[in-house]
Amino acid sequence: MLRVSGLRKAFGEHEVLRSIDLEVVQGQVLTLIGPSGSGKTTALRSLNGLEIPDAGRVEVAPDLSVDFAAPVAKRDLARLRDCSAMVFQHYNLFPHMSVLANVVEGPVRVRNRPRDEAVAEAERLLERVGLSDKRDSFPHQLSGGQQQRVGIVRALAMRPRVLLFDEPTSALDPELVGDVLGVIRELAEEGWTMVVVTHELAFAQEVADQVVFMDQGVVVEHGAPEAVLTAPREERTRQFVRRLQ
Ligand code: ADP
Repeated sequence: MLRVSGLRKAFGEHEVLRSIDLEVVQGQVLTLIGPSGSGKTTALRSLNGLEIPDAGRVEVAPDLSVDFAAPVAKRDLARLRDCSAMVFQHYNLFPHMSVLANVVEGPVRVRNRPRDEAVAEAERLLERVGLSDKRDSFPHQLSGGQQQRVGIVRALAMRPRVLLFDEPTSALDPELVGDVLGVIRELAEEGWTMVVVTHELAFAQEVADQVVFMDQGVVVEHGAPEAVLTAPREERTRQFVRRLQ
């Protein structure tokens, strides 16, 4: 479904991604773990062109292949952005818009869908995450967990092929983490293709089909969660996992 090869990115002299390869099978969940600053977010953002890599290729099956070695055509970048939707650590909702307007904005303005159809779908999705009664509220009137559930609904409303999550629970109070992870778990069970950057190893263990451990801009180890999280081959992975458990 999604294949990344040879992804490189530097900020000035600092090489943040040093030839990253990833592969996500349709309907599967890949979790990216690793120490702070290892390049996880930059890799994730590169998957949908929020970050423009210096080199490497991102392919989304069956029909899109973007090579970053040369300047990328605007049309290809737009197509890449259309393939996926991002759920951000700090939700990134529009503060001056109601919950419903936040969800409807993308489908109407970016996807050109009729407003009444987009509203009906937004209402369905909000009901699904238990937020029907918040449709007319503004983001600041919601808890962090509720805002993040709106963030997820907003991503789903774009009908992407791939959902990208950037540490979706790390800004939340501990008691609100479970609700958001519960929604992500359900999406995984429904067969969404997802890439999740997370520090929640128990969640990764339970939901991921593949865990990728990154450190200092490289993939150190990847494989099934049981292998990477409970019997890591590499010392760096072992140390990281031990510290978080
Ligand atoms: P992680 O998600 O694993 O914490 P990031 O991808 O956020 O790692 O960051 C990797 C490194 O790249 C960090 O050292 C960070 O400071 C740096 N970095 C990220 N974005 C930028 C940017 N826009 N400009 C300069 N440096 C950046």
